[in-house]
Amino acid sequence: MTLSPPPAPAIRVLPPEVAARIAAGEVVERPVSVVRELLDNAIDAGATRISLAFDDGGLTRIEVSDDGRGIPPGDVELAFERHATSKIASVEDLHRVRTLGFRGEALPSIAAAADVEVLTRARGEPVGVFLALAEGRPVRRVARPAPEGTTITVRDLFARVPARRKFLGSPAAEARAITTLAIHYALAYPGIAFQVVSNGRRMLTTSGDDDMRHAFAAIYGAEIARQVLDVDHREGEVSVTGLAAPPAIHRGNRGGISVFVNGRWVQSRPLLFAVVEAYQSQLPVGRFPLAAFHLRLPEDEVDVNVHPAKAEVRFRDERKVARALRHAVRAALEAAAPVTWVVPGHDPSAPPDRPPPGSAGVPAPAPATQPAAPRSAEPPAALRGPVPTQGVLAISRAMQPAVPPPAGPAAHSHRDVLPLLRVVGQLNATYIVAEGPDGMYLVDQHAAHERVVYDRLLAQRATAGAPAVQPLLEPLLIETGAALASVAAASEADLQALGLVLEPFGEGVLLLRQVPVGFRADDPVAAVVSVLEAIERDDRVPAGFGRAAATIACHSSVRAGMALSTEEMRRLLEDLAATATPRTCPHGRPTLVLLGTEAIERQFGRR
Ligand code: ADP
Ligand code: MG
Repeated sequence: MTLSPPPAPAIRVLPPEVAARIAAGEVVERPVSVVRELLDNAIDAGATRISLAFDDGGLTRIEVSDDGRGIPPGDVELAFERHATSKIASVEDLHRVRTLGFRGEALPSIAAAADVEVLTRARGEPVGVFLALAEGRPVRRVARPAPEGTTITVRDLFARVPARRKFLGSPAAEARAITTLAIHYALAYPGIAFQVVSNGRRMLTTSGDDDMRHAFAAIYGAEIARQVLDVDHREGEVSVTGLAAPPAIHRGNRGGISVFVNGRWVQSRPLLFAVVEAYQSQLPVGRFPLAAFHLRLPEDEVDVNVHPAKAEVRFRDERKVARALRHAVRAALEAAAPVTWVVPGHDPSAPPDRPPPGSAGVPAPAPATQPAAPRSAEPPAALRGPVPTQGVLAISRAMQPAVPPPAGPAAHSHRDVLPLLRVVGQLNATYIVAEGPDGMYLVDQHAAHERVVYDRLLAQRATAGAPAVQPLLEPLLIETGAALASVAAASEADLQALGLVLEPFGEGVLLLRQVPVGFRADDPVAAVVSVLEAIERDDRVPAGFGRAAATIACHSSVRAGMALSTEEMRRLLEDLAATATPRTCPHGRPTLVLLGTEAIERQFGRR
């Protein structure tokens, strides 16, 4: 990782010609930027343990404690002056930055935006120094016993800059941004023992045993960590190491891909794209891998001095770096190709399985928890007589009286009215074939049912009605990992409104106590994870709620491959017609297609 210089080099104010070369701009934009700077400083100080505690998304308190080399007593005030740093001294040093910090701007910027206290004891000093600053200026300094290392406490961030406060997300959103950052840092520095506490609640603990797989386990759960593949590849001057999940494990967004360049977390689109590309068509549409990579390349190949808040770096040859990363991932996937994988994150709303390239000869494992849709070689399910539909339709019907559809002209003003449809039959146990006045309709039974359930969930919320729920007799342990557990904590109220009750139960583990009626219990873990992912994709409450509702609807709906009785199909079409937007599912895909009478007649040469 970063090379630690020998004990406590002196802090100096950079000469103006060096300061002038530093990418200028706002260092502290959000609580998470404060956290990033404090973590960087702790890592640069050679810490092996870092604990981060914050309250209210960091707005009221952020505290970072490390066991690093501390600040020498004579330098403590100096550390809060602009452009004061112990890390570089000259313009040339800017081209070979080996530390995360080098600008000497973080502490003064933080102290200008908040009240700051520092307690630090440098290596070899008999006693520590406590210094309090207000409005950027030291107001109190005392000698105080302290362990070796540094603790910096930041209180009431932006209290003096109300304009800035307005641009922040909710405390819950800021808390998630901080937890996400800490997760990436914990993956980048498995040799450091991290502890993260939000509002007194433990979010993450890593052991610091320098095993990336263990850090991965702390974050994404032991089961996934067991399955991730080692990545180890060198191409020219670029080396890539890390862990990549097999394609059967996937997420709804790119947030599960961490990329570090010389120990720095970067959010580079081309590099993320290179990772996704390496998986090619092995992932379902709209799904992304889970992986973490360390890229190491010579310092002069990377310019870190391009962004004030360190979000970006510039490569001398970005294409070369992306190529090396893509090759690294592909090599790991190919090496592991013949292994059969379990499917923890399978999203039934994803298009039906396409066999991954090269796996044609390998029969797809049929996980016990996930009955596969009938293959075309089997007789259509409809011919095998009525198959129990796991009560999905039956249950949702039972719950209907409890929740009257939204009445009144307002609810119907923008309605898209479906014609009256007569059920003719079922195709491939997946599509309802129906006759309408204008031709033949094929209705995707899953998409249609999703629309029905989704509208019902939103109607409940609009009328502040309680969802029909089903408490679990035996609460279920769900290992989500720290990232999604923090999502659950932050959106407790929304989840409850949807009928899902999840309680924190140790780090990265939740206790599922209650589900909405109709929620399929065949794979509750995958279902809960995909609901949390849906929220994670969007911070804004209404959108997050909508996405969670769509995901719950998906997991409460009849699947493709389920044979339905004519009566069940008739009810489903009726329910669909009663929704305001019957032609699309909550994910925006069509629920039905029409083959018009005219087109049919043209085909038969009648026109
Ligand atoms: P930079 O990290 O760019 O040098 P900062 O304003 O973040 O600038 O910090 C100023 C200086 O204070 C650092 O160069 C370092 O010498 C000292 N410092 C800050 N935080 C710590 C810490 N946690 N442990 C030891 N020294 C620190
Ligand atoms: Mg710094």
